[in-house]
Amino acid sequence: MGLVETEAVVLHTHKLAEADKIAVCMTESAGLIRGVAHGARRLKSRFGAALEPFTLVNLTFFEKEARELVTIKSAEIIKSYFDAARDVEGLAALEYLAELVREFAPPHQPDPKLFRMLRACVDALAKEPENSRALLSYCELWVLKLAGFLPDYRVCAGCGKPLGGAQGGDVHVGPEGVLRCRICRQAGQAISAEAYRLLSAIRVSGPCVWSRSYFAVSARDQQTVSEMAQRLVRRVLEREPKSGKLVQAERPTDGPAGLGRA
Ligand SMILES: [Zn+2]
Repeated sequence: MGLVETEAVVLHTHKLAEADKIAVCMTESAGLIRGVAHGARRLKSRFGAALEPFTLVNLTFFEKEARELVTIKSAEIIKSYFDAARDVEGLAALEYLAELVREFAPPHQPDPKLFRMLRACVDALAKEPENSRALLSYCELWVLKLAGFLPDYRVCAGCGKPLGGAQGGDVHVGPEGVLRCRICRQAGQAISAEAYRLLSAIRVSGPCVWSRSYFAVSARDQQTVSEMAQRLVRRVLEREPKSGKLVQAERPTDGPAGLGRA
């Protein structure tokens, strides 16, 4: 409580009264916060362009006990992603990422890992918007993992036997998104050894490295992994993400990055 100074990514803003702005931010040291920035919509506001979505800022805010809304005192730009957000595809991807974080991060609970993942993914999406299909699957899997909703892919959900070193046909994914070995498999479908390796690599790879691994496997394996991630997100949210539709409609089903687009 009191005055907090932290790095933050602005996820969403909306207008309040005549000159104020509400900003939803994922912060490094205080988790997800909603803050009011008084006078932020005035022409000569001291906030300048710092409180625009997807901007990485140094944020100072005042937090009062038992009040959900904090008061933003200052915001200084560390990095602006204005250009990335101008690209239609880039913007759709960033909006979907922002929605994931807003849905999965519990308010006012510090989660430095989620903050670092978000910062790295915003950076990667801004640099490589053409790889957004892979990058968003990466984000989905990591957000699920950090929120405790990603099953442990290292072991069979049935018998607990390690799945590492599995050959094609040995790993089966069930409708609920967990993996099982050949013996414990139920109604699920077999996934290839490549798709399994790609899923496992999420634990050790950064977003850009993982997106290269993603485009190195077959279109079918890419789809298997992306659909698993999307299905798990829908299962946890119990609905289709609002901004996910646009992004998913844009995900081509074959070809490496950039192909399959008009
Ligand atoms: Zn098993």
